[in-house]
Amino acid sequence: MRIINARVKSYADLVDITIEGEKITSITPSIRRAEEDVRADDYDADSRLVTPQFAEAHIHLDYANTAGVPRENNSGTLFEAIEIWADRKAEGFHVKDDIKAKALQAAKRAAEHGVGFIRTHVDVTDPTFAGFEALAELRDEVRDWCDIQIVAFPQNGIFAYEGGQKLISDAMVAGADVVGGIPHLEPTRDDGVASVKWLFDLAEKHSAPIDIHTDEIDDPHSRFVEVLAAEASKRDMGPQTVVSHSVAMAYYTPGYMARLLPKLANSKVRFAVCPNENLHLQGLGFQGPVPRGVAPVKELTEFGIPVSFCQDSLNDPFYPMGNGDLLRILDSGLHVSHMLTAPHMENALSFITTNPAGNLGLPDYEIAENTPANLLVLDAFSDKGAVQTKAAVLLSIHNGKKVLSREPEKVDWNV
Ligand SMILES: [Zn+2]
Repeated sequence: MRIINARVKSYADLVDITIEGEKITSITPSIRRAEEDVRADDYDADSRLVTPQFAEAHIHLDYANTAGVPRENNSGTLFEAIEIWADRKAEGFHVKDDIKAKALQAAKRAAEHGVGFIRTHVDVTDPTFAGFEALAELRDEVRDWCDIQIVAFPQNGIFAYEGGQKLISDAMVAGADVVGGIPHLEPTRDDGVASVKWLFDLAEKHSAPIDIHTDEIDDPHSRFVEVLAAEASKRDMGPQTVVSHSVAMAYYTPGYMARLLPKLANSKVRFAVCPNENLHLQGLGFQGPVPRGVAPVKELTEFGIPVSFCQDSLNDPFYPMGNGDLLRILDSGLHVSHMLTAPHMENALSFITTNPAGNLGLPDYEIAENTPANLLVLDAFSDKGAVQTKAAVLLSIHNGKKVLSREPEKVDWNV
């Protein structure tokens, strides 16, 4: 097929994009197309923005659509959610086919909003492995329209949960793509540090990337982010290391931040930040000015450290909202980070395209000749416009295959 009259940011003028098989085979200026050159499978973008498919760098598909069972999260806190989740597993609600059906629903919601790549964490602190097996099957079954990476995530810790180390090791042997962790949930600070080192050893053993739930707690003394950066530097694994959440950074003193930021930049670690969910979870019960518990995205970005905005949860004990729509997450993330200024808005889509693609290690993630045809036509003409109007995805293509299309919204006025 061919997408004509497309606005691609790396080209000054409108272009025609030809897709053959799984690849983009040519990109040519639209102005050079002869008037009689009309093809049946042409899609006229009509000057609209064409971007790579969105990449969701942090979601929990195994938790999706489980809110309310076995009970509601009445305090709204992260730690009540973790308890509810443990009860759910203990009380027999955690069943493979059910998890898979609910996760498929969530993945489809995300795809409808233009997502073509997902990194999902999967709780492996469960001897039945129901969640892991459900998502491993899903990963194969949706390959046609979405690439899924599975993070072996020990929700209850590798030391705090009996047998945690063996479970996460088994998950890596069974085909998980990425090593996860949760150092701030381990019994002590020392255990947390030990867990980070142990998880890096495991990642090295499997030549796998690493993506750690880091300091997701309203506690300025939780400082595992510096441990991660130090390990990543020592082992030369920075680009394969993702710091997820890192909300405690929102509470660090300026003095500590001044020392930390250069270390993070030198280590080359990347970030995955979930603004909507952490706005909901963090700062509950605080008196006076309420901290909002989102990592300092603006400072990280201005230091050249790549940050991705991600969904995290979708209708589960941790977070009652969420519909897989990364433009919505991007909107909140830019607001809470005070990044609505022109220079940041010009590249706003990088938080849900190139930055997460880097987290996922996606090769050839760009709109260029001889790259895989994974792209979207958005009902917008610029990054800012896409965020401002929460632009609809009019066309989504994954490896050359048309996944879905949508008519531009048309409003009929009666007055
Ligand atoms: Zn998470």
